Amino acid sequence: MFDLPSPDAGLREPNLAEAERLMTVCNSCRYCEGLCAVFPAMELRRAFTDGDLQYLANLCHSCGACYHDCQFSPPHEFDVNVPAVLAKVRNDSYEAHAWPAALRPLFRRHGAALAVGVALAAALFLAGFVVAGDPGALWSAHRSPDLFYALMPHSAMTALFGTAFAWMLFAVFMGARSFWKATGASVDGLALGRAGHDAATLRYLDGGGVGCMNEGEEPDDTRRLWHHFTFYGFLLCLASTSVATVYHYVFDRPAPYPLWDLPKILGVLGGIGLVIGPIGLLRAKARRFPDLLDPRFRGMEVGFLAILLLTGASGLALVSLRSTPLLGPLLALHLGAVLALFLSMPYGKFVHGLYRYLALARWRREDPSRG
Ligand code: SF4
Ligand code: SF4
Repeated sequence: MFDLPSPDAGLREPNLAEAERLMTVCNSCRYCEGLCAVFPAMELRRAFTDGDLQYLANLCHSCGACYHDCQFSPPHEFDVNVPAVLAKVRNDSYEAHAWPAALRPLFRRHGAALAVGVALAAALFLAGFVVAGDPGALWSAHRSPDLFYALMPHSAMTALFGTAFAWMLFAVFMGARSFWKATGASVDGLALGRAGHDAATLRYLDGGGVGCMNEGEEPDDTRRLWHHFTFYGFLLCLASTSVATVYHYVFDRPAPYPLWDLPKILGVLGGIGLVIGPIGLLRAKARRFPDLLDPRFRGMEVGFLAILLLTGASGLALVSLRSTPLLGPLLALHLGAVLALFLSMPYGKFVHGLYRYLALARWRREDPSRG
């Protein structure tokens, strides 16, 4: 075994200690320095603080290329598996920085918590439609333009989802702030802009140009494609809601909108992205080489994709079946999924996008080759 002394030896959490050992091995080897940003960032250091290791872990896109290329990967006695160890440190960092601390255990129970949350929220919406809305409207075909609001008033929807969204934004901000401080990042407009481009194009998910490693030795680039569907689908849904809010409050044009209008076009395209992307990513996850994964957080990863898929699919079903008696149950399911999604975002895989972006911004700032 390749063991080197660490300034924190014996004090460090085991995954951080293992990441430090691997980074020390890789710093001597440097064979993988062209594959992604992790290795050049590592080469700028001789010692690694906990924050440095969390930074490197969040720079890693888990493409698997360095595992397949490594002459020291198992069964070699050096036991070098950079993707798996960085995945563990990365997942631990989500948990360590989450706010408030009392909700950190949700990361490890994310899948179960989401399933219960969706079922509970959908049931409560259904009950609310019956008790507070028009009970007859729940089971009848809807042809009125006010179809959603006969079941739940717009003001109630805005108050509930506005509060959940504000809570989500604040909790995510607090977590990102803690990560930002722990990893020693600092603000730099140019670096933030370049990191935005790297994140939007998933620059480092290509394994140095050949694509991601899956269960076989043949790399491919489909994981990036599914990720793009998911990410841009989510952004389009957010844009649809934002445009609809402007229509409602600025132009006094309440929903529903015709199929050709901007909120509907953005929402339908976003919903399609949220169906295709998560299905592709779930399939890609099932095909991944198990040695690259962190099994402790499988529920978090699958749960996040499942809730995105449910949100997209139930939204599209609402558009298609809005004039049928299924509208009420579908609306309850969709609102339940969106509420559970918002409330779970600070305690699940969603935070990876933000932490990765902050890690990319730090790398763009310290990259010695930057212009
Ligand atoms: S992963 Fe293996 S081959 Fe790549 S730099 Fe580290 S020790 Fe070298
Ligand atoms: S798994 Fe890919 S992104 Fe992560 S360190 Fe290895 S080569 Fe870089």
